[in-house]
Amino acid sequence: MYPESLNRLIKNLSMLPGIGQKSATRLAMYLIKDNRELAEKLALNLLEVKEKVRLCKICFNISEKEICDICSDPYRDTSVICVVEGPADQAAIEESKAFKGRYHILHGVLSPLNGIGPEDIRINELLERIEKEDIKEVLIATNPTTQGEATAFYIAKLLRKRRPALNITRIASGIPFGGDLKYADRMTLEKALQNRSSISV
Ligand SMILES: [Zn+2]
Repeated sequence: MYPESLNRLIKNLSMLPGIGQKSATRLAMYLIKDNRELAEKLALNLLEVKEKVRLCKICFNISEKEICDICSDPYRDTSVICVVEGPADQAAIEESKAFKGRYHILHGVLSPLNGIGPEDIRINELLERIEKEDIKEVLIATNPTTQGEATAFYIAKLLRKRRPALNITRIASGIPFGGDLKYADRMTLEKALQNRSSISV
């Protein structure tokens, strides 16, 4: 019902995650209305990003350089690696300023039901890093979901086998700061109780 080029734009937009036919049509209509400048910027931006952005050779985070700024920062603690599912998780931890080591981005979690196995995420690359670099601790910060937990457990087992003396840690999960016990679900409460820690006074 629309001109062919517009149909193509809608079709391509709807291939993006989380964008259905309706949203794609809405975005396309917005772009063709009177936003030539935005459309031009977006078109150039997409090409630029595809050309410039790649994965860091060490941690596999997205970067414009072969080695990302964090991996090449001499002030980072090179003896600790924090393992995360994706670049957004890395960015969140980095924003907290609570971690001074380096990262390893898996680009996914194990998910047998969706056909995602160890070969599909960057687990082998992590094991290679453990061999090459002088690592004392691996902090596994996959999300506290069924798949995130399973992935953490799988990685911990592999690491333990290769480096028996390695300190393997897991981020704590439980009641969020500012939360309320009354409203926490059973799994969250269970985790909070299991992962209790001493109060340092
Ligand atoms: Zn890096």
